[in-house]
Amino acid sequence: MANARIGLVGLGVMGANLSLNIAENGFPVAVYNRTGAVTDAFIASAGALSERLVASKTYEELVAALPRPRAVIIMVKAGGPVDAVIEGLAPLMQEGDMIIDAGNADFHDTRRREAALKAQGLNFIGMGVSGGEEGARHGPSIMAGGNPSSYEAIREIIEAIAAKHQGQPCAAHFGPDGAGHFVKTVHNGIEYADMQMIAEVYGILRDGGTERERCAPAQIGHLFEQWNKGPLNSYLVEISGKVLQAFDPETDRPMVEMIVDKAGQKGTGRWTAIEAITLGQSPSAIEAAVAARAWSAAKETRRAGAELFGDLEAEPLPRPSEEVLERALLAAKIIAYDQGFKILSAASEHYDWGIDLASAAEVWREGCIIRSALLDDMASAIREGLPHDQLIFAPRFVEMLRDGAGALRQVVAYAASAGLPVPAFANALAYFDTMRQGRGTTDLIQAQRDFFGAHGFERVDGGAGQHGPWGGAAG
Ligand code: NDP
Repeated sequence: MANARIGLVGLGVMGANLSLNIAENGFPVAVYNRTGAVTDAFIASAGALSERLVASKTYEELVAALPRPRAVIIMVKAGGPVDAVIEGLAPLMQEGDMIIDAGNADFHDTRRREAALKAQGLNFIGMGVSGGEEGARHGPSIMAGGNPSSYEAIREIIEAIAAKHQGQPCAAHFGPDGAGHFVKTVHNGIEYADMQMIAEVYGILRDGGTERERCAPAQIGHLFEQWNKGPLNSYLVEISGKVLQAFDPETDRPMVEMIVDKAGQKGTGRWTAIEAITLGQSPSAIEAAVAARAWSAAKETRRAGAELFGDLEAEPLPRPSEEVLERALLAAKIIAYDQGFKILSAASEHYDWGIDLASAAEVWREGCIIRSALLDDMASAIREGLPHDQLIFAPRFVEMLRDGAGALRQVVAYAASAGLPVPAFANALAYFDTMRQGRGTTDLIQAQRDFFGAHGFERVDGGAGQHGPWGGAAG
């Protein structure tokens, strides 16, 4: 007998918290987990909300608990596990029913799953959810894709559980098939860049300058806490401040110093870079952040490198002030977001999704990991129209960048002089400098290509497909 409004498969960290969020908002949820003991423990720990949870031990029980058209959210490990759940669930569902994948799927998988389920008469929503455990429980940012009428059927629930910005739900439908998961992927790509840039500032303050200038983690954390009260106000700056001021209860040393400097990555940052390159884009700050994580994994190699080159003399410029670092971080961050929005725009055009970029900025204002005060300005700037599709050309950001670009340059110059790696900052600056150079150096690249491959070039005084006077020297 149908006694739940929606189903949810996968009671890991995200699924358990999302179920409680849905139940708390008044919608009974039928829950299922592959390992039944996890379901029992979840129900036992749900307190008063257990009244709105329907424990199911089989897919049959789950499906039987739902009214038609049924809607089941899948919140399991991305990749094969999602296909395994669909394989178990789909044969039990009927025409018009809906499966919602709320994990971090590769949007190509979402497109494939949507097409396969459509052929079986089932609807499929690919839905990115951001905000980690806390967000899932009390209000995540939600990015959905798929058939718009299917989204309409679950919209009431999605908007109720989502984070709110001034009363407006941070949830939206971005377009057909993979659009929602793609917006989530780019969100994560931007998250990589944002995190890396904050870490680069930490590196400069920790390792740069004279012995007296070098800061302990707690000092840097305190500075981030101050920055969080200004234009850099954001979740990532806030948590970085907290993390850096935490101490290890076992050794009493700064917690961050007890952590091996090797970062993991689940794939979304990498997917952003790969898809961008496929689309002829290059989000250099995001790519640099992905690269920095990959390089970090080679800990033993870096140790060997330190033996060989660690003593190379650097001639550092004076270390930039905290105020300069703050302005540099703000400028670099705007450039990274510009690159993220450009990928969204390119993918939307390529896949014919019709993604509303302003809506992406709006749903990222609360609930998600990249939430920040800047996103409100970004949403407004996009709504006002971006000259040449560039966020950095929007009047309100032109002003900020005219103010911050010098600081960014000072920080990159300092880091290079001191031998400190700042890949995301340096790549953000290179992109900015390229975008403000009316005449670049690709005229020479075009000449080289024409010389060795007769590729042709366009003349400044008119005429495409021209060739140079290389005298048949091409090889
Ligand atoms: P995990 O990614 O660790 O997945 C755990 C769940 O997956 C468990 O319920 C587990 O069941 C189930 N599972 C694993 N393999 C299978 C399978 N073959 N068949 C059926 N079920 C399976 O949990 P999270 O909650 O961290 O993440 C869920 C999704 O949300 C992922 O796609 C993740 O990338 C995404 N996400 C996670 C965030 C986070 O902060 N953790 C933030 C945003 C998105 P069992 O108990 O039986 O092992």
